[in-house]
Amino acid sequence: MITPISKILIVGGGTAGWMAAAALSKLLGPQGPKIQLVESEQIGTVGVGEATIPQISLFNRMLGLDEDDFLKRTQGTFKLGIRFENWRRNNHRYFHPFGSYGSDMDGVMFHHFWLHARQRGHSTDLSSYCLQAVAADENRFLRPVANARNSPLGHIAYAFHFDAGLYAAFLRDYSEARGVERIEGRVCDHTLDPQTGHVTRISLEDGQSLDADLFIDCSGFRGLLIEQALETGYEDWSHYLPCNSALAVPAEHTGDPVPYTRSIAGRAGWQWRIPLQHRMGNGHVYCTGFTSDDAAHDDLISSLSGTPLRDPIQLRFVTGRRRKAWNRNVVALGLASGFLEPLESTSIHLIQSGIARLMTLFPHQGFDPAEIEEYNRLTEIEYAYIRDFLVLHYRQTERDDTDFWRHCQSLPVSDHLQRKIDLYAGNGRVSRERDELFNETSWLAVMHGQGIEPRGHHPLVTALGEAEVDARLHQILGVVRESANHMPTHSDFIRKNCASETGANMPA
Ligand code: FAD
Repeated sequence: MITPISKILIVGGGTAGWMAAAALSKLLGPQGPKIQLVESEQIGTVGVGEATIPQISLFNRMLGLDEDDFLKRTQGTFKLGIRFENWRRNNHRYFHPFGSYGSDMDGVMFHHFWLHARQRGHSTDLSSYCLQAVAADENRFLRPVANARNSPLGHIAYAFHFDAGLYAAFLRDYSEARGVERIEGRVCDHTLDPQTGHVTRISLEDGQSLDADLFIDCSGFRGLLIEQALETGYEDWSHYLPCNSALAVPAEHTGDPVPYTRSIAGRAGWQWRIPLQHRMGNGHVYCTGFTSDDAAHDDLISSLSGTPLRDPIQLRFVTGRRRKAWNRNVVALGLASGFLEPLESTSIHLIQSGIARLMTLFPHQGFDPAEIEEYNRLTEIEYAYIRDFLVLHYRQTERDDTDFWRHCQSLPVSDHLQRKIDLYAGNGRVSRERDELFNETSWLAVMHGQGIEPRGHHPLVTALGEAEVDARLHQILGVVRESANHMPTHSDFIRKNCASETGANMPA
């Protein structure tokens, strides 16, 4: 007989814990299992994680959140992509946009037409054919325009920057309103079933003890249940991605918030700039094998344009993933399940996709091993594909000005990544694996941005004739330009639609 799960305990109340609580309370409904969440204010959260990718809109929509309300409450801004500075070489920059370049023609991807022109000496950059890239460069933003299906204005893909602490608080209100019970306390012990090895209960320092059928471990890097209780093991990927530390510090704004994340490569890592309504989020991801904490601190502080609002917080991490994100009756989400540095803002998305997978394979009390195995198989693939995309940024660089960058040029490349590079370097082919997070536009943006020059292009392009290819490119360029002219500035759009009351710090 199938016995449904009747009690779920979420351990941890950071972004992962409250995203899980919100989603489970919404999707399992009032007749579903009892959901409790335990967190410790004394321990706190990592307090970073402010840039996202467009898929987060699906999560917010599934919860039924009003987007303007969400942005007001989280001091949010819009994000059209990421600007990578000094990654290929110093003083070079490129944009990784959400949304596509030009439009595909006669069944052939747009960039082949552009490659054809480029290989004949044309110099217009790929970015000029992408509305998001042009708009970002000019500080413009607009949501997709309804009834504009034939215009790039109808397909503007975007994500958000937001204050992670405020997002968790927002989701906490949402979850508690749907019956999730929050328990304040510090978990200090656990009990395992001697037969099954399942976690049966956890104990808090104040003497409380909490049991559940299903535990969601959102306890952050420490992995209280998945690692400390179940000793699941961790696959260390530092050899692929050597950065192991970060400093994060908010600062005052010195200009209008831009509609993109900045990623600025430095001597032994990179820095982020994430503009919110009320402040700028800044951070430095670096590798202690190639720089000291003090030097990284100085690099960060000396490059801030606004006054820091507090001292930087320091974080250490080991890039990699938990060997099993789901082990017995424990599912790990967020930092408890693994960590890939925030270069492409993927961690919050990994929480979201973990929740989606859990819902697809939601267990009953029997915990079918085949379902757990499937969850872990899909999670592993997702992590590995994202890892490869991140490696591309480091490995495919012309920089050799420091030991760190010389080291990056010899980073190992998986077969999957090598196949992608070879396909693009040949005739500009870009492919996407099934279940792969990053699409063809993303791979193209970074492979082009990091300097891979294809030797050829799709042969069908030639059949059109040079004059026709040039005419079509010219026309697309004009459409993108005209579309961008219709977009207001990012600040004006926020002021009109979703300015928070305390976001008054936003430059007028
Ligand atoms: P945490 O925030 O660490 O929360 C852990 C929770 O567990 C807390 O509530 C804590 O109190 C509780 N807890 C722990 N131990 C106990 C205990 N013994 N008893 C009771 N409670 C306990 N992601 C993005 O998507 N975009 C980004 O731009 C981005 N930038 C990042 C930059 C850096 C430097 C880092 C390190 C991460 C970044 N991330 C980013 C990742 C993002 O921060 C995390 O994915 C997200 O915050 C989720 O964290 P978490 O909830 O798993 O863990």
